[in-house]
Amino acid sequence: MTASFQPKIARDLPVQDQTAQNQVPPLTNYNLFLGDRTLAKAIVREGAAWAREQISELGQLLGTDEAQRWGFDANENTPVLHTHDRYGNRRDEVVFHPSWHSLMKTSVENRLHSLPWIEQRKGANVARAALMMLTAQNEAGHTCPISMTFSAVAALRAEPGLARQWEPRILSSVYDPRFAPAEEKAGVLVGMGMTEKQGGSDVRANTTRAERMGGSREYLITGHKWFCSAPMCDAFLILAHSAKGLSCFLLPRWTPTGERNKFHIQRLKEKLGNRSNASSEVEFAQAWAHLIGEEGRGVQTIIEMVNHTRLDCAIAAAALMRQALVQAVHHASHRRVFGKLLIEQPLMRNVLADLAIESEAATLLMVRLAASFDARQTDERERAFCRIATAIAKYWLCKRARVHVSEALECLGGNGYVEESMMPRLYREAPLYSIWEGSGNVICLDVLRALAKEPAAAEALLHELKSATGADKRLDTFILKIADELSDKARSSSLQDYGATEFAARRLTEGLALALQASLVVRHSSPELAEAFIASRLDGQHGQSFGTLPSEADVNSVLEGII
Ligand SMILES: Cc1cc2nc3c(=O)[nH]c(=O)nc-3n(C[C@H](O)[C@H](O)[C@H](O)COP(=O)(O)OP(=O)(O)OC[C@H]3O[C@@H](n4cnc5c(N)ncnc54)[C@H](O)[C@@H]3O)c2cc1C
Repeated sequence: MTASFQPKIARDLPVQDQTAQNQVPPLTNYNLFLGDRTLAKAIVREGAAWAREQISELGQLLGTDEAQRWGFDANENTPVLHTHDRYGNRRDEVVFHPSWHSLMKTSVENRLHSLPWIEQRKGANVARAALMMLTAQNEAGHTCPISMTFSAVAALRAEPGLARQWEPRILSSVYDPRFAPAEEKAGVLVGMGMTEKQGGSDVRANTTRAERMGGSREYLITGHKWFCSAPMCDAFLILAHSAKGLSCFLLPRWTPTGERNKFHIQRLKEKLGNRSNASSEVEFAQAWAHLIGEEGRGVQTIIEMVNHTRLDCAIAAAALMRQALVQAVHHASHRRVFGKLLIEQPLMRNVLADLAIESEAATLLMVRLAASFDARQTDERERAFCRIATAIAKYWLCKRARVHVSEALECLGGNGYVEESMMPRLYREAPLYSIWEGSGNVICLDVLRALAKEPAAAEALLHELKSATGADKRLDTFILKIADELSDKARSSSLQDYGATEFAARRLTEGLALALQASLVVRHSSPELAEAFIASRLDGQHGQSFGTLPSEADVNSVLEGII
């Protein structure tokens, strides 16, 4: 009898150690605010120190494992549209994952949708910007309805009677997600519908019609919107053509008589990112709406809302850059390659320092813009500055966020390409802010419009830049060049040389943004960071990608205490 073959059983094999080696610990249970020295200093400087405790508490909460999970879950379990009920009646409801509601509840309770409207203290917009900056780092998708609700108040006030009726619920700190008439709810949300199939930037091409009901300010709306985000909001500010032209309306989900308004959600968009948020296509079939402001001047009315959402795009872009930087630095501080920590490798130090400079300059510009939203209420120059700085910051920060996040993702190597790292979510979110609320070109044309139509805007911008002169000769020269260019623009607009001016609008806006950022870093950043910013961004000592700082740059100083 031959001996039967005896396979070696697993327990005889040497046990392989299953502990993952050289992997980075999760970045959790940290305070998003306390680690951000730039933001912490900025809120004190801009008069929002009174909100420090709340901002810090939110920063702590958002760094917990639980709050981070909300962000992942809300994006993995995307909203579901129910067009009809089981009997075939229209339902038009979107159902969200519980994590979405946790995110919304936290933001509403922290008054991200209302703070500057209810808090009369100086610095209210800065305090809110800081809260928003932290929140968007954890989960940016849900900040869409938060931002629209906040911004809607600015336009709604053009119709004082309607504002009196709606504001108490809009500004309430209670998150009430029930689909019910506004009068029955403790808190409501407001969205916006401008973009149609045939045009988003050119809203004059809107085909949606508004028919007046008798002699009142009530109308019936017929038409569609091609992009209507957060369709579970309780009401929307929309544009439609009435007899006198394009007008702005408040269109609620329920009519004043307590019936479902004829607001039909056709489908939800399958989007690149921003997946926790529902963006829909809607049809209005004689939906009830109330006029806001002067009939025929809808764009002028809704632009007040748009200016606030543009501020929020700048905040979100700064937030994405900050979170991407934090993740990259955290990873590089723990991962070893070729016998050293990544953060000790000279070339990685160049990349990280370059990302840190960009992020700090973005935060400073965003906070300065938010401060101008506060100051413009009593200061004419700040009002003019706010007008042009909104467009400049919206354009530039949104443009920079895309490339910044992409480079930060690469710092994590393959792990950065994996969903669990959060980097793919930041990466997919980043292009959105440049499209929303005026895409890149449209915003640059808006900069031209401000320069041509509001001489005070150019003056206020130059005043701001000149307040930083004397600190650095290269900056002084750059500002002089900008001043020349602006007076050229004033001349060329009077000569109607618009084609050439438009062609160069991105170049101009980019220059204005860099000058503004440089003027902020020389005043508020460390001398080492300011030097590296000016050398690389203004003085040509930089390549086309991140990680090309000149060898003189003091990266040790720039990389100190990022988290
Ligand atoms: C996820 C998501 C959610 C959205 N949610 C909403 C919402 O809730 N409500 C809403 O109203 N809209 C919403 N939008 C729509 C968004 O605001 C528009 O997509 C945007 O304004 C651009 O309009 P458009 O898509 O029609 O592009 P177009 O207007 O066709 O523009 C296409 C490109 O041409 C450029 N362009 C336009 N005019 C000029 C010009 N004169 N010179 C040079 N270039 C020009 C633009 O910059 C853009 O890059 C959403 C979009 C997305 C992606």
